[in-house]
Amino acid sequence: MTFNALVVEKTDESNVSVAMQSLTLDRLPAGNVTVAIEYTTVNYKDGLCMQPNSGFVRNYPLVPGIDFAGTVESSDDPRYKPGDKVVLTGWRVGESHWGGYSQKARVNADWLVPLPDGLTTRQAMAIGTAGFAAILAVLALEDHGLTPNQGEVLVTGAAGGVGSIATAVLAKLGYQVAAVTGRPETADYLKSLGATRILPRGEIDTISQKPLESETWAGCVDAVGGEMLARVLGQLKYGASVAAVGLAGGAAMPASVIPFLLRGVNLLGIDSVMQPYERRLVGWQRLATDLPMDKLEGMIQPANLADVPQLASDILKGQVKGRVVVDVN
Ligand code: NDP
Repeated sequence: MTFNALVVEKTDESNVSVAMQSLTLDRLPAGNVTVAIEYTTVNYKDGLCMQPNSGFVRNYPLVPGIDFAGTVESSDDPRYKPGDKVVLTGWRVGESHWGGYSQKARVNADWLVPLPDGLTTRQAMAIGTAGFAAILAVLALEDHGLTPNQGEVLVTGAAGGVGSIATAVLAKLGYQVAAVTGRPETADYLKSLGATRILPRGEIDTISQKPLESETWAGCVDAVGGEMLARVLGQLKYGASVAAVGLAGGAAMPASVIPFLLRGVNLLGIDSVMQPYERRLVGWQRLATDLPMDKLEGMIQPANLADVPQLASDILKGQVKGRVVVDVN
């Protein structure tokens, strides 16, 4: 029996090729659960992993795809049986272990999460790693005391995957959401997700001469990093926190320590890859209850496996809106 997968191969020191291949089950890596994948998605990191010298991929050939949802086909682990619906994000799947751009995957049972009640596999991948990271950011802000009565919460990279889910969740929880975007044409989309203010990227994407500006944000979910994150630190209210999720605008952060010292602000790191199982359950449960499914539907850009190489290139250029959902069958 054969199945289709997108395979990245190294062609020389500085190039890779990406092609659809027909594979047999014996080609899959070691693992104790085999999953019939239904949906996967395209995250920013997928774009990176499909480029040469991304720094993430150690061995080729690789089936990329850092997340997927599907049905257990066979299992040697007592926690899972054939027919169970599961979702997987992180654990370096799609980087060092073959991932979701395939009709089948074989993985370690520890990496799987049972699909929460109320979510379909399609919805789980509309959320995907980006949405899971967004809910981890919201949880981190809540853990540091954020409540809806404290004022506006900023979401950067708002029209992207992390930003779209963060905007919709925060709005559903009763927060006023200020959405930063470099794409003015997404304003109606962001308002439909619940944003109450649209902030043009140009107003906040360069560092200020002043380390402290007026206290504006009660919190921030940041998908951009770089100068924007440095700028946000100086605009947070006293004691407020920013959850640093992404680096779409750059990894280097030319920041001053003054906001930490004079305003007691907090910089919270968010990692979705190595999150412990218990926190994953909490995150997925919160997504099932706090993310309005009609809003999620509005974020979806449907695709199939053949579309992935182009979409992976587009996402690195900031040209993907919302969430790509790839039907692998
Ligand atoms: P997307 O490309 O969907 O979203 C990123 C958004 O950032 C874009 O849509 C754009 O939003 C904005 N943006 C892009 N380029 C720039 C730029 N040069 N300057 C300022 N803003 C920019 O990616 P994802 O949402 O999937 O991921 C966002 C980030 O989060 C990535 O860096 C990704 O690696 C990271 N991430 C981290 C995770 C973790 O565990 N920490 C998990 C998942 C993602 P707009 O057009 O609205 O301005």
